[in-house]
Amino acid sequence: MDCIFCDIIEGRSEAEILYQDENIISFLDIRPVNYGHTLVITKKHFDNFLSIPPNELNYLMKGMQFVASAVIKSVNADGFNLILNSGKAAGQTIFHFHFHIIPRYLNDFRFKPDFKRYSDGAIKEFADKIRSELNKQKDSFYG
Ligand code: 5GP
Ligand code: ZN
Repeated sequence: MDCIFCDIIEGRSEAEILYQDENIISFLDIRPVNYGHTLVITKKHFDNFLSIPPNELNYLMKGMQFVASAVIKSVNADGFNLILNSGKAAGQTIFHFHFHIIPRYLNDFRFKPDFKRYSDGAIKEFADKIRSELNKQKDSFYG
């Protein structure tokens, strides 16, 4: 399988690795939104957020908290965004699941989506659909 992040894990491609342990690895993004923009990934290859088993997600989240705290302190950021792009439509370009830690500064830039408004009653319709799907999936997800 052709995966640049697996290549980084295996040492076949270079990266500025910040931290690694048995389960996760973290390195600088080569095309940073702000300096210090960091990626955190599991060492095992999973395509996207929905395909990661719970124990791997735990390792990842714990590592995220550890790495984010050090990155933000090192670059004197005022805050940070944790971003995960899951699927092409959401901007995922590397299909080895990863989180982005993006250091932020007051007034640096704004994400500007075109916000929508729910028409009358529509918010409940969307909520009903999602609640019904959650009910369907609950038993298989939580076991
Ligand atoms: P995505 O769009 O999939 O959420 O994010 C992929 C990220 O990986 C992008 O921000 C991109 O700059 C970064 N990236 C792509 N190729 C490489 C690489 O070879 N090395 C490093 N360090 N980052 C990469
Ligand atoms: Zn991979």
